[in-house]
Amino acid sequence: MFHSAALKLTTWYLAIIMSLSIIFSLALYGVSSADLGHSANRQVSYYNGFLSPYDLNNYSLIRQKELDQDESHLRNRLIWLNVVVLVTGGMVSYALARRTLEPIEEALESQKRFAADASHELRTPLTAMQTEIEVALRNPKMTQTEAVAQLQSNLEEVGKLKSLSEGLLKLASSGNADLTQTVDLKNVVASASDRLLKTARVKKIKLVLKTSKVNVRGDAQNLSDLAAILIDNAIKYSSSGSTVNVSCGRQKKYAFIKVSDQGQGIAAVDLPKIFDRFYRADSSRTKTHTDGYGLGLALAKKIADSHNGHIEVQSTVGKGSSFSVYLPLA
Ligand code: ADP
Repeated sequence: MFHSAALKLTTWYLAIIMSLSIIFSLALYGVSSADLGHSANRQVSYYNGFLSPYDLNNYSLIRQKELDQDESHLRNRLIWLNVVVLVTGGMVSYALARRTLEPIEEALESQKRFAADASHELRTPLTAMQTEIEVALRNPKMTQTEAVAQLQSNLEEVGKLKSLSEGLLKLASSGNADLTQTVDLKNVVASASDRLLKTARVKKIKLVLKTSKVNVRGDAQNLSDLAAILIDNAIKYSSSGSTVNVSCGRQKKYAFIKVSDQGQGIAAVDLPKIFDRFYRADSSRTKTHTDGYGLGLALAKKIADSHNGHIEVQSTVGKGSSFSVYLPLA
């Protein structure tokens, strides 16, 4: 599909180049042959006073022949020039067409991958639900207690589907941030930690905030989501009784948010992949950490990117992880 689009675009580019080249060649030919004609006429009239009418006639015929030859040379050169323009223009047009289409091709490819990944993830809870319902329907002696347990299990799967679709929606809609608003990261971190205080308390994890006022440009809600993802992960992947430190402030030309935990850490092989959509390190797929689809860090990165910032991570297995977000100062 993209090959034929590239060929179509090449044809259009080439048509524009060739039209311009032919118009310029015709104009050049017209102007040059008029100039050559005038110069020949001037020479013939110059010799008018010195030569006899017979010699003048001969001279005029010779000049006319020279003029015809010059015009023929000019025509041939212009034709060759246009052939060269056609060949090089064709190659340049094709390269340009491929370059124009490349980002569209990449976007389409990534959209296809996104749809494939999403449907794969959606299928797992749906299949689980389908199997459970089918087994229940085949059991005519199902008691009320069993039916309630069945519905509860289905509700759990529906909850998973809901959180997955919410994650997907957020990921799809968080590409463009409105950078006209000034946001204080101190407030952003405060609102994100507020959202996770209860989770931390339930898991008996101490949240320690060390924040100073620092302004960035962006979307307060998106930035709060970003901070919440990092804090949520820090809590999720730490054991009970540990501490999660959250800080924000200014470092050189950047404003930063830093979330450090004393949790399980991330293996070096996983570090380059944790920001990929749907990627979960094997250690996170255990029974204790089933809540998650590997969308959080992909969303966090997308939000940081849309604010012209970036995320860095340092981690040691068994000791803990530290995620830092750097954003341009307002
Ligand atoms: P999720 O937490 O839903 O699995 P994320 O995209 O937020 O998805 O994280 C991707 C993976 O990165 C996690 O599955 C986990 O393996 C790893 N990870 C992220 N944050 C931490 C952390 N603070 N400590 C240890 N591992 C982490």
